[in-house]
Amino acid sequence: MFRLPLVLRLAAAAGACAPLAPAVAFPQERADVRRAIHETMIERARDGAARKIEQPGCRRLLDEFKDRNGRPLSENLATWDRVAAEYLRTIPFRDGSFHPFCRSGKSALVSVVGMRPVFVCPGFRRQAERDPWAAENWIIHEMLHTLGLGENPPSSREITQRVTELCR
Ligand SMILES: [Zn+2]
Repeated sequence: MFRLPLVLRLAAAAGACAPLAPAVAFPQERADVRRAIHETMIERARDGAARKIEQPGCRRLLDEFKDRNGRPLSENLATWDRVAAEYLRTIPFRDGSFHPFCRSGKSALVSVVGMRPVFVCPGFRRQAERDPWAAENWIIHEMLHTLGLGENPPSSREITQRVTELCR
C-alpha cells in the first residue's frame, strides 16, 4: 500500500525549519541521492558538532528531547551502541541538491525523522562558510531528528535555540 513518506524536517537557512509533507515519495532509489559527500567544510562542521555533543551540557539535549512515543533520544541512541559523538561522526551525509526543499533555497539540511541520512543543500555550504558555529548547531539539530525527534512541537526554532543554549 502506498504510504505517504514521513514528514521531512529541515533546517532552513533563515534558522527556521518549516515542517513540510512532500507530495512525492522520497526518491531513495536514485543513485545520485545515495551519493555520500565528503567535503572538507562539511566535515569540519561535523567535527565541531561532535566536539560539542561530547560535552555533558550539550548531551542533555538527548534526555530533554523525546521521540513521538515519549522515549528520550538517549535511549534511541543506546540502540546504536555508540556514544553521541561517535554516532554523529557516522551519520551519512548525502547530496541534497536534487531536493525541492534544497532547490527552494530556504533549506540548509534535510532529513527524515528517525532515519540517518542527512541531505546537505548548497545553502548549508554557504552558511557553514559564513557562520561555522551555527552550522555545527544545525548538524546537531538534524542529528536529533535522525534519533527520532519530530517537529511542531517543538518548533524548529525552539530546537535550534535549545541547541544553541546547551552546546558551546
Ligand atoms: Zn528541524
